[in-house]
Amino acid sequence: MKCPACTHPESKVVDSRDSESQEAIRRRRECLRCGERFTTYERREEVPLMVTKRGGYVEAFDPEKLRRGLLVAAAKRPISAEDIDYLIRDIRTSLANSFNNEISSVTLGDMVLLRLKNLDAVAYVRFASVYKDFKSLEEFTSELRELS
Ligand SMILES: [Zn+2]
Repeated sequence: MKCPACTHPESKVVDSRDSESQEAIRRRRECLRCGERFTTYERREEVPLMVTKRGGYVEAFDPEKLRRGLLVAAAKRPISAEDIDYLIRDIRTSLANSFNNEISSVTLGDMVLLRLKNLDAVAYVRFASVYKDFKSLEEFTSELRELS
C-alpha cells in the first residue's frame, strides 16, 4: 500500500480494529519514509453467489428474498429476526468457505431446511411446503412423519 503523501511502498500498522459494521478491518498505517499516517480497510472479496433454478436458468442469490420467505415461515413462532439473520449468514459463510459460488436451488433449499429443522419444526414444515412445492397431501404428510 503506497503512502498517499510520498508514494513510498512500505508502511507499518500502528493500530488495527474491526470497523463498526465488523465487515472490514480498519488499519492505521504509518509510512516508513515520511511518517504520514493513513487508514486502510481490509474486507472479504464479495463474490456474487449464483443460484441455478429448476429449468436451468441462473440468478443471483437474493438474501432478502430468502429472508422474506423465512419470515413468513416463522410467523408467530419462537424464532427471532436474529435467528433468521444468523441462519442466512451461516449459509453464506459455509458457501464462501467451500469456495462454492454456484449452487442449485434444491441444495440451497436443503441447506435452509437443515438449519430450520433445528430451530422450529412448524417453521420447517411451512418453509418446506413452499420450497419443495409439495404436489400432494401425501408428500406433505410423509415429510411431517419424517420429523417425528
Ligand atoms: Zn510517505
